[in-house]
Amino acid sequence: MDLFEHQAKELFAGFGVPVPSGRVATTPEEARGIAAELGGRVVVKAQVKVGGRGKAGGVKVADGPEAAQAVAGQILGMDIKGHTVHRVLVEQASDIAEEYYFSFLLDRAGRSYLAMCSREGGMEIEEVAATKPEALAKVAVDPAGIDEAGARRIAAQGGLPAAALDGAASLIAALWTAFDSSDATLVEVNPLILTGDGQVIALDGKVTLDDNARFRHDDWSQYEDVGAEDPLERAAKEKDLNYVRLDGEVGIIGNGAGLVMSTLDVVAYAGERYDGVKPANFLDIGGGASADVMAAGLEIVLSDPAVRSVFVNVFGGITACDAVANGIVSALGLLAERGEKVDRPLVVRLDGNNAEEGRRLLDSYSATAGPGAVRRVDTMDGAADLAAKLASKGA
Ligand code: GDP
Ligand code: MN
Repeated sequence: MDLFEHQAKELFAGFGVPVPSGRVATTPEEARGIAAELGGRVVVKAQVKVGGRGKAGGVKVADGPEAAQAVAGQILGMDIKGHTVHRVLVEQASDIAEEYYFSFLLDRAGRSYLAMCSREGGMEIEEVAATKPEALAKVAVDPAGIDEAGARRIAAQGGLPAAALDGAASLIAALWTAFDSSDATLVEVNPLILTGDGQVIALDGKVTLDDNARFRHDDWSQYEDVGAEDPLERAAKEKDLNYVRLDGEVGIIGNGAGLVMSTLDVVAYAGERYDGVKPANFLDIGGGASADVMAAGLEIVLSDPAVRSVFVNVFGGITACDAVANGIVSALGLLAERGEKVDRPLVVRLDGNNAEEGRRLLDSYSATAGPGAVRRVDTMDGAADLAAKLASKGA
C-alpha cells in the first residue's frame, strides 16, 4: 500500500524526521487559511500517488494566502498522469540550497535491505542510475539497523557535502526507525534538501507499506483510499473474484493462480509479435468454474474498455472440461439475456480431464452461434498467440 506524500510526512514526523510544517486542504479557501496560519511563502502540492508532480505543474510556490488560494484553485481538479487531484498539501516553503536523494528499500533480489543515496536529487532516480551510476550509492543495510555513524557513512558515500553530513546522519537514522517500525518496503525522500541555513529536511516523501503486516498495524485503516480503488477491481471484489487490473489489451480468465500467472507470461511473450499487446488483467476463477462464476468473470473482463480480446485458459481437474465448456456456453447465454454484448473475440483453450468432450461442446456451440463466437485452440501457446493477434491494432 502506497501513502500520499502528506501521510508519509506525518509518519516521518512521528519518528523525528524533519519535514516542513503544513496541512492538507480540499478547497482553495482552505488552502488560503492554512497559508495565513503558516505565514510567509508557502508551497502548494498536489496529493496524488504518482511521481513527477513538479514537472506536471502540481507543485507551486505562493507568496502569501491570496496566491496560495489561486494556485490551489489551479492544482485542485488537475489530472496528473491519470490521477485527479482532490487534495493539496500546503506547507511552509523551504529555502533550498541543494537537493539530494535518499531511500531505504527491501531489496528482494539481494535478500537484504538497501539504502540508496545520491548528491543528485530532485530528478527521477532512474535517470540518475542510468546516466550517472557513480553518483548513486547503494549500500546493503543489516536488518539489525543503523545508527548515526552508519547513516553518516552512507550519506558520505552518496557524495553529500560536509555541510550536510550531520543533518543527514540524524535524519537517515530516524528514517530507518520509521522504515523498520512501520513495516515499510520503501521510504523514499526525493529531494532531501539542505537549506540556506544548513538544515537537512525531507521535502518529499514516498512510503510503501507491506500489506502482509497489516494485521499488526490497527492504525493503517486511516490509509485506506476507497475512492482511488480501481472501479473494476472493486466490482470484482464484490463478486468475490480474484481480479487484478493490468494495463494491456488481452483479457485473461483462468482457473488456478499458477495457471493464470503463466498465462500472463505466455500472452506477454506472444504479444511481442503483435505490436507489444499485453495482458489486461489477472483473473482466477478458481477450481469450480460454474456458469455463474464464468459469467461474472467475463462480465468484469469485458467491462474493461481496453480489452480487445479475451483468453479463457482452463485446465480441467476436479471440475472436468465438459463442465467448464458448459459453464462458458451458459455464461455467454446469461450475458446475452442480460443484454451484455460479448462484442470482442473469445479464445478458449481447454485441456485436462474430459478435454475431448469439452471441446466438442464448444464446437457445437460455435456451429450454431456462428464461427467467430468461440475460437478454440488446444495449446496454450497457440491460444495465447491468437488472443494476442486478435488484440493487436492490425486485427
Ligand atoms: P515530485 O515532482 O512529485 O517528486 O514532487 P516534489 O515534492 O519532489 O517537488 C518537486 C520539486 O518542487 C522539488 O524538487 C523542488 O525543486 C520543488 N519544491 C518543492 N517544495 C519546494 C519548496 O518548499 N521551495 C522551493 N523553492 N521549491 C520546492
Ligand atoms: Mn519528489
